[in-house]
Amino acid sequence: MTYPHMLAPLDLGFTTLKNRVLMGSMHTGLEETRDWNRVAEFYATRARGGVALMVTGGMAPNKEGGVFPGAAGLFSDEDITNHKIVTDRVHDAGGKIAMQILHAGRYAYSLECVSASAVKSPISPFPPKELDAGGIEKQIADIVTAAVRAREAGYDGVEVMGSEGYFLNQFLVTHVNKRDDEWGGSYENRMRLPVEVVKRVREAVGPDFILIYRLSMIDLIPNGSTWAEVVQLARAIEAAGATILNTGIGWHEARIPTIATSVPRRAFSWVTKKLMGEVSIPVITSNRINTPQVAEDVLADGCADMVSMARPFLADPEFVAKAAAGQAAQIAPCIACNQACLDHTFSGKMSSCLVNPRACFETELVLDAADEVKAVAVVGAGPAGLSTALALHERGHKVSIFEKASQIGGQLNMAKQVPGKEEFWGLVDYYQTMVADAGIDVRLETVADVAALADFDEVIIATGVTPRDPAIPGQDGPNVLSYIDVLRGKAPVGDRVAIIGAGGIGFDVAEFLVTDDSPTANLDAWMEEWGVADPADVRGGVAAEGPQPEPPVRQVTLLQRKAQKLGKNLGKTTGWIHRAALQMKNVKMVGGVNYERIDADGLHVSYGEARENPSLIAVDTVILCAGQGPQRTLADDLIAVGRTPHVIGGADVAAELDAKRAIDQGTRLAATI
Ligand code: NAP
Ligand code: SF4
Repeated sequence: MTYPHMLAPLDLGFTTLKNRVLMGSMHTGLEETRDWNRVAEFYATRARGGVALMVTGGMAPNKEGGVFPGAAGLFSDEDITNHKIVTDRVHDAGGKIAMQILHAGRYAYSLECVSASAVKSPISPFPPKELDAGGIEKQIADIVTAAVRAREAGYDGVEVMGSEGYFLNQFLVTHVNKRDDEWGGSYENRMRLPVEVVKRVREAVGPDFILIYRLSMIDLIPNGSTWAEVVQLARAIEAAGATILNTGIGWHEARIPTIATSVPRRAFSWVTKKLMGEVSIPVITSNRINTPQVAEDVLADGCADMVSMARPFLADPEFVAKAAAGQAAQIAPCIACNQACLDHTFSGKMSSCLVNPRACFETELVLDAADEVKAVAVVGAGPAGLSTALALHERGHKVSIFEKASQIGGQLNMAKQVPGKEEFWGLVDYYQTMVADAGIDVRLETVADVAALADFDEVIIATGVTPRDPAIPGQDGPNVLSYIDVLRGKAPVGDRVAIIGAGGIGFDVAEFLVTDDSPTANLDAWMEEWGVADPADVRGGVAAEGPQPEPPVRQVTLLQRKAQKLGKNLGKTTGWIHRAALQMKNVKMVGGVNYERIDADGLHVSYGEARENPSLIAVDTVILCAGQGPQRTLADDLIAVGRTPHVIGGADVAAELDAKRAIDQGTRLAATI
């Protein structure tokens, strides 16, 4: 059998999980829509895809514990009836589902937030109120009530959220818990709350109900838990009646990335492995596991009894079924970009997925059989064109792709060269597999023109972008390159570099130029780079000596004209990582400049509207990353002869173009043709 460890059943005594894969909790925003058919379809689609057990997004046990005002929870009989729609649909699809109970404590974005002590978190504007003993009892009672209601609503279990720096986690560390009553002081006292919660939930729900406790195995904050405390808590949680221990990595306020694409795959499985043998209930590991082979390796290496994957189930609901059928290459890969999932969640938008715009839109974006089969030409094999072609094929259309380059992938082929963006290789491979398996007619090294497209019923222009001309005197000199020359590896770059433009590509080029060996490909190097240590050696797993990055390969200055923080418009949950990574490499970030001219000495700039402080940035190479404009010559040619092409992706709107918008736009277009 392929993936024998991952696909082995897991006997929990009163019930059996059909394999070792858990879909981890994700806050998608679906429950808040109260469109229960849509919520049910999201989970049922994943149940049909073969995952053994799913955990819902966090449900608030009460008003003060909600992540934000109005957060979903099981507060009324009507809520129970609504959630039953979801659990019934999941069970009909052969799946199991547990409800996560999430009390945010001081992470609640609300004036009513509560915690162990009145210590404000660095990521929230609201200081929490310190709970008195009665207040703590009320929180426990509300969590227990939520668990009982979850059972009434037909859930197979609950997950008690005890990690990521949320309420229960806050009691464990002296950094937040300053109490001197029975809920604070000694570790025994500080862990009383989570243990009491698990004990009372178990008493209330009975023995035959899955109770997962998500335990913070490495806090990644100064003064976090020690490993001995983690083990002590795990044993106490087992004794209190938990069925399974799930792993949480890092508090939300940690300044060490834990799930971004630059984090090596399975970067934290070594932490969970340390708990194996310390408890006798199953242990789940988590974070940056995104292919069946990685999941299999983690289990075969004895790092855990089960794996949790969350975002990979947005990218492809059929992850497990495809793996079991020997079709792993057809699994749409989660590239850990956060662009359509977590960045949306933290902007109050519905989650989806960059590579699968149907995620969370299952009932709305439907790719059913087309009424009339058409011959469709797609010009451009970047993410926009490829995703459109695949969606059109799924609907039964006859698709031909024209691509002037010798390979598919478009700008993805540049992204994959950037250290920390290695996941893009898998995305290009996935598209390669899918277009080949679909038998789509791909014409590489072929420039499409009006004549070549004459016989197609529909033409889709996905020709992408051309670099913007920043019109700087001297930009034609031999020391000036475009980002394309650099990322395609065609041009030699000097030791001292100025980068003009600090958008996503300027940041990427800077990363590319200061790094020799990507730490994403080497876990030890990555841990050293970000200062991750073993919690057995240092509290919280934060290295005492801090981050120890490799010295930069080049001296880079990154510039923009806007007088604001550089990287302000990068991803909401990942921008800080890009900025921190470049700061660690001493990249100089300069805003508010005017580009006066380039000559053999380097880049001459001035500052502000008054063009003050004219000065020279002495560099060997200047690289232009000044954004792009749409490449729509072919679209205009077609319109001129009376055709009405569909223009998508960067060819449509280049500003703020990214693969997320391109793929979403193309897939939605394909659903209408
Ligand atoms: P961009 O984000 O639009 O950034 C363009 C940069 O060039 C800005 O810093 C801008 O700053 C500068 N600029 C604009 N016009 C200029 C001019 N006439 N002369 C000199 N500088 C000028 O474009 P991009 O960096 O090429 O990226 C394109 C898109 O790819 C991004 O929007 C992003 O969505 C996507 N992308 C995303 C990532 C990611 O990590 N998520 C990575 C790579 C690319 P000033 O106007 O202040 O000078
Ligand atoms: Fe993964 Fe990116 Fe999709 Fe989120 S948006 S699920 S990180 S591929």
